[in-house]
Amino acid sequence: MNINEFLSDRSKLMKASEIRELLKWVTENVISFGGGMPDPSSFPAKEIMEVTKDVLTTKAEKALQYGTTGGVLELKEELTKFMDKVGIKVDGPENIIITVGSQEALDIVGRLFINPGDYVITESPTYLAALQAFRIYGPRIIGVPMDEYGIKVDVLEGVIKKVIEDGGKLKFIYVVPTGQNPTGITMSMERRKALLEIASRYDLLIIEDDPYGYIYFGDEEPPMRLKAMDSEGRVIYLSTFSKIAAPGLRLGWVAASDEVIKWFELAKQSIDLHTSTLNQYIAAELLRRGVIERNIPRIKEIYRTKRDLMLQALNEYMPEGVTWTKPSAGMFIWLTTPKKIDTGEMLGTAIKKYGVAYVPGKSFYPNEDRHNDMRLNFTYPTPQADF
Ligand code: PMP
Repeated sequence: MNINEFLSDRSKLMKASEIRELLKWVTENVISFGGGMPDPSSFPAKEIMEVTKDVLTTKAEKALQYGTTGGVLELKEELTKFMDKVGIKVDGPENIIITVGSQEALDIVGRLFINPGDYVITESPTYLAALQAFRIYGPRIIGVPMDEYGIKVDVLEGVIKKVIEDGGKLKFIYVVPTGQNPTGITMSMERRKALLEIASRYDLLIIEDDPYGYIYFGDEEPPMRLKAMDSEGRVIYLSTFSKIAAPGLRLGWVAASDEVIKWFELAKQSIDLHTSTLNQYIAAELLRRGVIERNIPRIKEIYRTKRDLMLQALNEYMPEGVTWTKPSAGMFIWLTTPKKIDTGEMLGTAIKKYGVAYVPGKSFYPNEDRHNDMRLNFTYPTPQADF
């Protein structure tokens, strides 16, 4: 049988993640800066074990049962308090939905808002798996360049005007404002305000993807969340337990107006009914007992130390003409080589000859043809090579 004859047009828009492909051929003899995984020593494994036992002892009948699509009430109440501490005020549980990681929320964003041919704006470069999630729904994605302060808002406004002039339908601006993946850049407060102002003026949604804000490890306070400054209900806020607890829990959440959350629930119903009830009760208890809050300073310390080590090594070993970002959040450093180098072509040599892997920067660009960057992950590799 030829399966291709059966596949939908939509399936043909799906592309394997270069990163996941890459991870397959990284053996234990390769130092990999290619993945995007947290440091396993940051997982509160012992506490998760205790909490799991307690949850199953005291509420197995609920924790092992089907649940509502919106999510476990206790967890949503804990998240309301958790977000309140960073200035995000929601009226109640009706403003939150629990998803299978933020990745599911990104897919739902695509489902709910994108018609084929609609315009979507992202930072350039941007999170590869968001591009993949959106592309399935056939949008025209425009990347707006960044500098050290985040998305260039003057360019953004020009892009918006042009789309409108051409009669295009622009739906949302997707940003990762803190410790961006892949660049590690944190958007300045000024840019955040300007972005909100522009979104308001042109009546656009903002998708704020914030996996890294809670583990910001810079010396100063992190800038406010866009959601905390949103007086018009136009920010749809996504976050996750993947970086503050453990990605294996596959737990994320969305905070938005109750109307938007209802649409998310409707979409999620047909995808997977609901997120794992057991994991939701575990997460609620981790928050309630303060396990997550106590663990956050430890995660920050691990990542700050590892970032410093990588920055120090880059300073020591990189030749002239190579530049890189100095992140205060997130898990990545973005490195740019002179234009004559193609980091995609160089990768084979890097792995085979030098035993080092990274992710070529090319696929993080929605529409720019740039080949001289790479993404380096500093959270997963150990300080010492193990061989
Ligand atoms: N958004 C961004 C910017 C990310 O870096 C990640 C994780 N790599 C995610 C979303 C998805 O995370 P998860 O599905 O584990 O919550």
